[in-house]
Amino acid sequence: MQITADLIVILGTGGTIAGTAKTASDGVGYTAAQLSVEDLLAAVPALASRRLEAHQVAQLDSKDMDFLTWQRLATAVQAQLARPEVGGIVITHGTDTLEETAYFLQRVLAPAKPVVLTAAMRPATALAPDGPQNLFDAVQVAAAPGAEGVVVACAGRVHDATQVRKTHSYRVDAFESVDGALVARVEEGVVRLLGRWPSGEALGLACISRPAERWPRVEIVMNHAGASGAVVDALRAAGVDGLIAAGTGNGTLSVALDTALREAQADGVKVWRSTRCDAGPVMDLPGLLPSAGALSPVKARIELILTLLAG
Ligand code: ASP
Repeated sequence: MQITADLIVILGTGGTIAGTAKTASDGVGYTAAQLSVEDLLAAVPALASRRLEAHQVAQLDSKDMDFLTWQRLATAVQAQLARPEVGGIVITHGTDTLEETAYFLQRVLAPAKPVVLTAAMRPATALAPDGPQNLFDAVQVAAAPGAEGVVVACAGRVHDATQVRKTHSYRVDAFESVDGALVARVEEGVVRLLGRWPSGEALGLACISRPAERWPRVEIVMNHAGASGAVVDALRAAGVDGLIAAGTGNGTLSVALDTALREAQADGVKVWRSTRCDAGPVMDLPGLLPSAGALSPVKARIELILTLLAG
């Protein structure tokens, strides 16, 4: 019997989309992660005609996202995707670390079905909450023919997990595809493809099977006027496994910071250079510390953690 893959699974993890405030006019003094994923769906009657299933995987403010939750989430996503009746997955998430979770899932799972992260900048109790529209749009993306890979649907735009960054602290359209094209737009429930769905090779769940408390410790250090090597030296003393240098411009580093990072590297710490610029790659140059390519510091950190886990 032919099984129709029209079931969309919604996985809740918390965030402002599930947040509540004491008054409707309060858009910032709220508590994230209060409503269940079922509550979020109940606020979108327009989804009633869809075949949906909801599961709560976590309930946290995504500023507190952690390795254990990532491990659980990746495992849950993989298990749901393996069901032949599932056509796609939507993950409700906080905006703060959404780009990190999206990148992590794309690198670990590189799913052949769509996995759509969505969020909100305003709590569910706001005068005009953005969560219901974003959730509605995300479900349309998860059900779109030909969709695949991990994307982010927010404010009518669909971003590739490798491109997306939160670029605004308050605006409802807080995300940008900083260094490439949008994947799509969602207009009145219609997904208009503009670019390509993310693709790539999956590292696989086995890569992240080590207990979360024993994942490599990778920290980010920033170059800035007057940057010394003190933070690097302290992290080295604390037993850090890897360091991402968020350099200036093309990953440039002060002499003192560069010296401390080279000493750390000589001591066995894996060091990559990224940039604190909002967009653009770091070009490799002979004699310099290795570059993290076009990855932002937070995504370079995830890539280095995965590299160390795989190694
Ligand atoms: N702190 C919240 C979170 O990331 C912010 C948000 O969702 O907009 O969970």
